[in-house]
Amino acid sequence: MNDRYLAFANSNAGRRLVGALGLPAPVRLERWMAGRARPVDGALLIGGSGSLAEAASAVLNRLTDQNFADTEGRFGLPRWTAEHGPKLKALVFDASGLTRFEQLIELRDFFQPALKGLDMCPKVVVLARAPEATKDLVAASVQRSLEGFTRSLGKEIRRGGNVQLIYVGKGAEDQLEGALRFFLSPKSAYVSAQVLRLTACAEKVQDWTRPLAGKRALVTGASRGIGAAIAETLARDGAEVILLDVPQAKDALDGLAARLGGRGVAMDITAEDAAERLVGALPEGVDILVHNAGITRDKTLAKMSDDFWSSVINVNLRAPQVLTQALLDAGKLRDNGRVVLIASISGIAGNLGQTNYAVSKAGVIGLAQNWAPVLGKRGISINAVAPGFIETQMTAAIPLTIREAGRRMNSMNQGGLPQDVAEAVAWFAQPGSGALTGQVMRVCGQSLLGA
Ligand code: NAD
Repeated sequence: MNDRYLAFANSNAGRRLVGALGLPAPVRLERWMAGRARPVDGALLIGGSGSLAEAASAVLNRLTDQNFADTEGRFGLPRWTAEHGPKLKALVFDASGLTRFEQLIELRDFFQPALKGLDMCPKVVVLARAPEATKDLVAASVQRSLEGFTRSLGKEIRRGGNVQLIYVGKGAEDQLEGALRFFLSPKSAYVSAQVLRLTACAEKVQDWTRPLAGKRALVTGASRGIGAAIAETLARDGAEVILLDVPQAKDALDGLAARLGGRGVAMDITAEDAAERLVGALPEGVDILVHNAGITRDKTLAKMSDDFWSSVINVNLRAPQVLTQALLDAGKLRDNGRVVLIASISGIAGNLGQTNYAVSKAGVIGLAQNWAPVLGKRGISINAVAPGFIETQMTAAIPLTIREAGRRMNSMNQGGLPQDVAEAVAWFAQPGSGALTGQVMRVCGQSLLGA
């Protein structure tokens, strides 16, 4: 909750000391603020020469009024140079035209000068075609190699910047806007080095100021922490929200629900009659289902009790499956619905003292991956968001030295905020985000833990 080192490193005296001693130098990350008009507040440079540049440049005109190209006459945009151009807030490179190993040097040719002109908290997106959709072996390998580039540049960019790779499927070009609005804006502040795949989706966002207007959302574990931020963000984006938490949290739950114009449902998701009660509490069904409620009960496996093991599996893994199935069976999850499961990087990388938790969170990723093709038949998407170290009451309870390690061991040298996870969930909840399913996106500042 209270990262004193971040404040110190950004003070005048602290900045000098941190620099002199070569200590981690976290930057204050820009976050999305209410009332902001444009996703990109500054200059954007577009380069590359593939089949996606045209679709991307059409979208980019709506994201900022300061678009530049790397070469004269490209995309009808003025040319940017490191010497004379404005500082760059965002870079978009269309790498879909790279099919031979010799062409990979184009990455260096585009990024090297641009890196000299970056503003604070710069955003980089590389656009490409999915290797598995490419028949030519070399071209597929070149497209795959972009993952290595993205993840390495994420570690080099500093200044609170981030870098992502989007593989755009055939017919998914018209869904680029949602992805670019997320990745090029401060909404993706704590997301870096992520690789996502867009596929064709008939649904579209009608109004970018309220992308979830007309949608009803259920968020579990919503009385505090990440769940409360998710409820607030979905409501900000126009959704009607239903907040669920344990009966002990009823006061906080009802208070927040009232503030957001929604309603609270006080129940334990592991109760025997939870499925029946939830179906009863949602007579009109929901469009957006966010399984956020979760617990940790950490012990090494050698000391793990029955209760620690089972309670974590029941809350984090069994309940999301049982409740989703019950809502599906009762017809309460609408066609074109959006399901988001909150996983964890522990479920990807494993973590000492967390066999139970890592099992539950890896299992949640399994639910997203294996349910996706089935739910896709009804236009329903299901994805997992895997947070790294997020500043909440859950992480405030971690002993200081381990907490400090968790906070600093990522490319941003700091923990994320609940809002960072919430923004990711809100993007996955959009109508156009049916273009993403069965995927895992980490919100971890490119943590050193895991891939
Ligand atoms: P938190 O403890 O602050 O909030 C969790 C909420 O879930 C609480 O309000 C709690 O009452 C509710 N909950 C727990 N058991 C429940 C049950 N049986 N029925 C209904 N509600 C229940 O935790 P948080 O940090 O906000 O975490 C939210 C989610 O994010 C969890 O799934 C957690 O595993 C995951 N996560 C958190 C972090 C982090 O760094 N904070 C990192 C990775 C993943």
